[in-house]
Amino acid sequence: MNNKFEADTGKILDIVINSLYSEREIFIRELISNASDAIDKKKYLSLTDKSIDDTANPFEINIEIDNKEKCIVISDNGIGMNEEDLKNSLGTIARSGTKAFLDQMKDSKEKGDVNLIGQFGVGFYASFMVSDSVEVTTKKAGESDAWKWISDGRNGFNIEKSSKDTSGTQVKLFIKNDAKEFLESSRVQFVVKKYSDHISYPVKLIEIGKKDSKEETINEASALWTRPPKDIKNEQYDEFFSHIGAGFGKPLLTLHNNTEGTISYTNLLCIPSTRPFDLFNPERKSSLKLYINRVYITDKCDALVPAYLRFVKGIVDTQDIDLNVSREMLQNNPAVAKISKSLVGKVLRELKKLSEKDKDKYKEIWNQYGPVLKEGLYEDMERKEALLELCRFSTNDGDEFISLNEYIESMKDKQKDIFYISAETKTQALSSPHLEVFKSKGVKVLVMSDAIDQFWLSMAGQYKEKNFVSITHGELNLDDIKSSDDKKGGKKKPDDKKYLTLIAQLKMSLGDKVKDIRISSKLTDSPSCLVADKGDMDVAMESLMMQRDPEYKGAPRILEINPEHQLILNMNKLMDNKKNNELVNDAGMLLFEQARMMEGKLPNDPAQFAKVMNSFLVKSVN
Ligand code: ADP
Ligand code: MG
Repeated sequence: MNNKFEADTGKILDIVINSLYSEREIFIRELISNASDAIDKKKYLSLTDKSIDDTANPFEINIEIDNKEKCIVISDNGIGMNEEDLKNSLGTIARSGTKAFLDQMKDSKEKGDVNLIGQFGVGFYASFMVSDSVEVTTKKAGESDAWKWISDGRNGFNIEKSSKDTSGTQVKLFIKNDAKEFLESSRVQFVVKKYSDHISYPVKLIEIGKKDSKEETINEASALWTRPPKDIKNEQYDEFFSHIGAGFGKPLLTLHNNTEGTISYTNLLCIPSTRPFDLFNPERKSSLKLYINRVYITDKCDALVPAYLRFVKGIVDTQDIDLNVSREMLQNNPAVAKISKSLVGKVLRELKKLSEKDKDKYKEIWNQYGPVLKEGLYEDMERKEALLELCRFSTNDGDEFISLNEYIESMKDKQKDIFYISAETKTQALSSPHLEVFKSKGVKVLVMSDAIDQFWLSMAGQYKEKNFVSITHGELNLDDIKSSDDKKGGKKKPDDKKYLTLIAQLKMSLGDKVKDIRISSKLTDSPSCLVADKGDMDVAMESLMMQRDPEYKGAPRILEINPEHQLILNMNKLMDNKKNNELVNDAGMLLFEQARMMEGKLPNDPAQFAKVMNSFLVKSVN
């Protein structure tokens, strides 16, 4: 073989060749899927390019079984490939999906995941599961040369000139000895019915060299979304979604509607049960497929749904857009805008319905896609309220999945605000000293641990006239909210004045590491915590900025100390007796650094921290 496979491609071939017998049938699905895509492309091209006109030739996919030669040929009259396409698509150049597929296979414990191959854009290689060698003969529409690609799936591939009358592709599989089952027409027919019934083009099967064998169309051959929902089985939906690359298995939600009115369109959408591997790709693009009157136009029409719904997969078909519109112009097309508006409303309404009807299912959706949906909270002001209603949170109270409405219902007497705590992880949030007073008063605090939370919270303002208030930001007054165990209105606030000299001493020793030092009304168990000043950035937002820009230092914080903690009481006593300022300074440093650590940060000066810490330890451990 003249051309070697690119290294990662070789690894994929290794995986498919060694995959389980029971899954090998999917090669038929993958090859039919490619044939159908190729016909879609040609159909679109022939709309604009008059030199490409094959209307005399009805679009179809053919399967020939040749028992004598022990081969299967799957052919289409689609777009075809030229020499360069062949090289790029079937061998040398690493495509983005290749690595993602390998990563997925590495992570999965079961080998069964080879079924996912199509989702990663490497489905063609599935043909090597059943073949000793594969020959692809192809001619690109509008070109005169035909090409043949040959490979045994191990040593690389050859490309040579060939001849072919019409444009399209023919994939010839020389079937392995242990895969002879696929030379039986009933077996092939069964697999086509199972996976490819929804394909819009006829799939025809014929057995060569067999007496009385007739060509037979073995699929339904009409686009699935054009059929009435009541006639469609769940498995057919599932297969359709896997064909269009929307993931495998049962979708969490399926939406099949026909809308008529100021704008008419059909949508067949799903929310996949597993996250697409490129969900957090920075380009954040939707990939809904747009059809105009059954003709596939593009999957790059971002205007169809906003980025925060990019996890919704599927197709939209409309007659209200001119077939001749160029793909570039679609972005600003008023009909697309109308469809988008209607579609987004529909998806959000369905999600809300589901959240009321089937909490468990909704929870799964939220766990997979919640952080993506939240992007809408600052990108789509018009629907902020509807989106907030869909949001779910965990809390300091052990809730895993509480809505804002439920939060409001659980609010204490005189509680005016919706409290939240931001942190990089949920565990970190839950161990924060800031939560202590809320725990003692039985007030719920929402945990915000998705990076995205910082962005929408800084703009969210209110929900149902209640402010979102960060408990690590500014000064909180919870005096009005009574704790569950004392009915008289809470503990007496300690007299701040008693601590003035201690605070002055600590301010001097900590210097500009802190913005201010004050007595806390929040702490019950811990001696200290750090608070962002009112006008400054909230703690978690600042961490986020620091991750992005290592130069960014952030603003100094306010150190709050707990007047009832034994350590603070002792330090205060030392001050009153005018004894040992050095000891107070050292303790102050430890108070400050441990407050930082509770936010997941390292001490400013780890060496100094360890030194002071050890000198304290020496005194107590002897
Ligand atoms: P995917 O279909 O997801 O892109 P595949 O591995 O199945 O991944 O196919 C790789 C590429 O090879 C396709 O994107 C296409 O460009 C090309 N290809 C495969 N089969 C055909 C065909 N029958 N006609 C034209 N191009 C094809
Ligand atoms: Mg494919």
